[in-house]
Formats: sequence, structure tokens, C-alpha cells
Amino acid sequence: MNKELLNRFDHACAYCGDADASPVDEHVVPMNRASVGLHAWGNIVPACRPCNNAKKDDPWYGHPMLDEPRREAISAYITEYRYEPDVDELKIVMAKLYELADQQTRALVEFGLVASRPYIAGMHTSPPAELIAPTLATGEEAIDTPS
Ligand SMILES: [Zn+2]
Repeated sequence: MNKELLNRFDHACAYCGDADASPVDEHVVPMNRASVGLHAWGNIVPACRPCNNAKKDDPWYGHPMLDEPRREAISAYITEYRYEPDVDELKIVMAKLYELADQQTRALVEFGLVASRPYIAGMHTSPPAELIAPTLATGEEAIDTPS
């Protein structure tokens, strides 16, 4: 746990104020696909394990162990580090990233299948030219094969 962050919260749980528990990183806005919280200053507070477990994905300001001073402390911390992500905008970015990652994965799988075909075919006989992808044929010219 970050020392500066611990100092800021007096080495105590940001929710219940317990100073004896060894606090863990707690994400004020949950880090998941729906809430898109980030692992960043303004979104991480020290929390004891029971408080961390009790929070789950619920909004931080409704945490049952929060009293008014601690609620204000977290609020001031969020404001100071300007952790006010435009969640709607972030969700669009996240959706786009997942979509791109999906396309990329599919492209890699397809490329892998196409690329492996000549080698699989070559186990029995020379692969017909039409089975070798044009990009592979170009790539092969560039490779200096020792004879
Ligand atoms: Zn606690």
C-alpha cells in the first residue's frame, strides 16, 4: 500500500477508521467492465478487509461503516485528484477496446490457421500454391534460408 496514501488516511481504513487493520487497496469506483474505475490516485483508498469485502460493487458513499467526517475525507480526496471520470464516455471507449481486442484475436487465429496450413499440408506433400497466403509468400522471400 502506498505510504503517501496511508499517511493521507492516517494509516486507517477509509471507511471504518480502524487503525489496527493492515489496509488493502480499495477502489472507490469498482474496477470492472460496468463501472470502469481506474487504478489511480483519487480512486484508491486504504480499507480493512472486512470493509473492502462489505463494499463489493456498491457506491462508496453508501458504505455502512462510513461516518460523516470519513465520507467528507474521501470526497475531498476524490476532488483533489480530480477523479471524476466521465463514466459514459469511458464505457464507450471500453466497449471499443473490447471490440478491437476481439477483432485482433480473430485476425490472429485466422492468420495462424492460414499460416499453419502449408506446414500441415507439407507433412504429406508440397502445399499447392493457392494454400499459401500472399503475405506469407512475400514474407518467405525476405527470410534468408541456409542451404
Ligand atoms: Zn474498515
